Amino acid sequence: MNIQTIGVIGAGTMGNGIAQACAVSGLDVVMVDIDDAAVQRGLATVSSSLDRLVKKDKLSAEAKAAAMARIQGSTDYAALKPAQLVIEAATENEGLKRKILAQLDATLPAETLVATNTSSISITKLAAATQRPDRFIGMHFFNPVPMMALVEVIRGLQTSDATHDAVFAMAQKLGKTPITVKNAPGFVVNRILIPMINEAFFVLAEGLASAEDIDAGMKLGTNQPIGPLALADMIGLDVCLAVMNVYVEEYADSKYRPAPLLKEMVAAGWLGRKTGRGVYRY
Ligand code: NAD
Repeated sequence: MNIQTIGVIGAGTMGNGIAQACAVSGLDVVMVDIDDAAVQRGLATVSSSLDRLVKKDKLSAEAKAAAMARIQGSTDYAALKPAQLVIEAATENEGLKRKILAQLDATLPAETLVATNTSSISITKLAAATQRPDRFIGMHFFNPVPMMALVEVIRGLQTSDATHDAVFAMAQKLGKTPITVKNAPGFVVNRILIPMINEAFFVLAEGLASAEDIDAGMKLGTNQPIGPLALADMIGLDVCLAVMNVYVEEYADSKYRPAPLLKEMVAAGWLGRKTGRGVYRY
């Protein structure tokens, strides 16, 4: 399947990043959000992000103009009809995503592929809610999309080989490195990353080392750019706790027990950078 036009649902953090990556790679993009203000904010974010690349000589002014010209913003799902692949990157809410998928089924030709960028909802479950379960897949981009090389391509139980292969090739066309993952809570990266962060809270609570030393240890000892506690502050402690709670529920395995200190900090409203205080103060 030749994918030339991409539909993106949601012009927020991930949606506008996906639109940018696609447009820079020469694909045509239709980016849809609920109102014009959201669409315009998304387009302005792409424009200023590309301006930074131009300033750093990583992109020519002509290439920026050409990329911007390839992105059409809209509030009308009918504008998505020419797309061969629509990537859903709207707010993380299962009810909302189900509504959007029903709207897509009512609007798009039967052969259009649909992907979701969800971080936590089952691809198999969302696929079952569509009229195209074999043409439905997870495409989990990482933030910030234009910078991050990885895409987890997540196969639901129903996803066809043809759908997988087309979406995998499309991710490569974006200059990304896709990995194929079977559907399961947390997929691959967050399944390993969030329990590691949770363990760092156990280590901190046990007084084995200071927060600074835990982070320095993991940075220098495992060559990570940021320590787990500083990363928790960036992700949001509430988000980390919510993900651990999903694992507890889905796997019913005590190894996913959230660290009591993580729960305490969330209860205190110390959610990380976004509240000015988490493990560290900002
Ligand atoms: P965001 O809040 O920045 O953007 C969501 C956008 O969706 C908003 O602009 C909102 O107006 C729009 N929207 C809501 N309902 C809509 C509808 N019916 N039709 C069209 N647009 C609609 O959220 P985000 O951080 O970009 O997250 C989007 C998705 O990506 C979520 O599923 C999230 O789990 C996933 N994700 C996020 C990250 C991250 O680091 N932020 C990383 C990977 C995956």
